[in-house]
Amino acid sequence: MNEPTKFAELCLAGLRRAQALRPQVTSRAAPRTVAGTLALYNELLVAASASNALAGLMSEVHPEDAIRDAARECEQEVSRFYSDLALDRDMYDALAAVDVAAEDPSTRRFSANTLRDYRRAGVDQPPEIRARLKQIDEELTKLGQQFSKNISEDVRTVEVRDPARLAGLPADYRNAHLADSAGVIRITTDYPDYNPVMQYAGDDDLRRELYVAFRSRGGVANEAALRDILSLRAEKAALLGYADWADYITADKMIKSGERAAEFLDKVWRLAAPRADQDYAELLRQLRLHHPDATTVADWQKTWLEHLVKIERYEVDASAVRQYFPYQRVLDGLLAITSEIFAIAYVPVPDDPAAWHPSVVTYDVVRGEAKLGRIYLDMHPREGKYKHAAQFPLKDGVRGIQLPEGVLVCNFSAPSPGHLALLEHDDVVTMFHEFGHLMHHVLGGHQRWITQSGVATEWDFVEAPSQMFEEWAWRAPTLARFARHHETGAVIPAELVDKMRRAGQFGLGTATVQQIFYAAISLGFHRAHPAALDQLAEVQRLQKLYTPFAHVPGTRFHASFGHLVGYSAMYYTYQWSLVIAKDLLTPFEAGGLMETAVTYAYRDKVLVPGGSRDAADLVRDFLGRDYDFRAYERFLVEPVT
Ligand SMILES: [Zn+2]
Repeated sequence: MNEPTKFAELCLAGLRRAQALRPQVTSRAAPRTVAGTLALYNELLVAASASNALAGLMSEVHPEDAIRDAARECEQEVSRFYSDLALDRDMYDALAAVDVAAEDPSTRRFSANTLRDYRRAGVDQPPEIRARLKQIDEELTKLGQQFSKNISEDVRTVEVRDPARLAGLPADYRNAHLADSAGVIRITTDYPDYNPVMQYAGDDDLRRELYVAFRSRGGVANEAALRDILSLRAEKAALLGYADWADYITADKMIKSGERAAEFLDKVWRLAAPRADQDYAELLRQLRLHHPDATTVADWQKTWLEHLVKIERYEVDASAVRQYFPYQRVLDGLLAITSEIFAIAYVPVPDDPAAWHPSVVTYDVVRGEAKLGRIYLDMHPREGKYKHAAQFPLKDGVRGIQLPEGVLVCNFSAPSPGHLALLEHDDVVTMFHEFGHLMHHVLGGHQRWITQSGVATEWDFVEAPSQMFEEWAWRAPTLARFARHHETGAVIPAELVDKMRRAGQFGLGTATVQQIFYAAISLGFHRAHPAALDQLAEVQRLQKLYTPFAHVPGTRFHASFGHLVGYSAMYYTYQWSLVIAKDLLTPFEAGGLMETAVTYAYRDKVLVPGGSRDAADLVRDFLGRDYDFRAYERFLVEPVT
């Protein structure tokens, strides 16, 4: 038996258990009680989710092509099972027959939300419509996979023949990018190659060429896939009685409708636009120091100019800052900080047979004798691997059944003998961000019902704990715990961190309107009539409407906008969560970020309950009031002090 076949068997084991449990739940002999029906259904979901999580992860991270393909096939089969289950009238009737009136709140919530989701899937539609809905889901899964695969595998390269064109880039970058025997230096569109060029390279043409290559990934193949995805989603929304996909997908989220999402984006844009204009004027002033005749700033110049402004105006040089952030030291610091604020410890699991690549590091998360879960860190880029940074579930924790297991998938430069892999401060922030998700998954992964486990809260709340945790990477007292100069051993100076914070605020205006632009694509594409949508023209229009930067000819950003698959219309959630994240930081203002009275309260009131209650209620418990816009507005409008 070959490896992909073996993997497929392993991957489908959970699904097979779920399939076996299904007739037991619907069987007329089964008592319609919590134990007889709901608990069995929960077990079924646990079994199916094991396959789903393994397939979802391995299709993105397994080093072998054939296994990634086998994982995609497994994912399709699981997805067919889910969409079939979601439209199973017998199952709905069985679950609806359980009287939960006298049960605890989380059980009542599990029952109510499960039945709501069945109705949202169309379980009460006539058979011919249910058949079509099922077909749509299957096609959407395949198209979504194709769209993601096209992005991951479309790595483009810019060839450089004159090493002088790398002027401005850090020495370790240039050493890692030497000319081959034919005298060619290859720079790819992978993040560790791409980001430094956009930030440091003085060669304007090099930045432009790489920018165009980066923003051409996915190409026309993904425009076609996206056209099909949008029209299938529109059809599904219409079959279920919604005006468009945006209304359908937001109906059970905090924001409730496409219109409210549009209003929210508009509100944030109005707040951020004056600051974006100021930022842009400053970038243009900086550009004129190099090109006195310049009248506009191009998108491929933005990051480089921001970097120069930060050196000149704020005296922050990212290439000096990174000397404090060797990869391993940052990771160790992060583990030490989370240990302290959440009262947990990490126990290494050496030679973990479940690790899919030698670079993957495994830890058990424990508190005293109690094991809380397991984490896997897959932190460095390799061929065919997912290109972004994200937390993937491997197991959703369910009390009494299984502990949570979560995976960080990132693309940080890898340390090796003689190479410390110095991180940019942005990378440090990313690592903290993703760890915020991981902690939510592990600490919140002890619910009775799997659909309330960990990060299974309302979708538009999910980013709040991670965005909030970024703050730990922005404050001198927390950074001082691990950020040391790799040569001198000196702790990062508090004055430097203050400058970094001030400099970090520079560009907040342009960055925010850029986020609004992305969110407007995500929302607008799902509100438009698919047949009438000219994707490229719409992207150009929205870029002009929301940002000061012109569209760069030849680019098709939307074709590599991976969030359009998983987030569909909901990219707005990053800003929505940020409003809540900023408010979640207010209780820390008095005693700082390491004040365990506050971190424990946050852990217990916001993270530990997972999705067992509405996010707004968890936040109210922690803040002692409803969350509001004020902290976010201060963050966006006021300068850093
Ligand atoms: Zn996130």
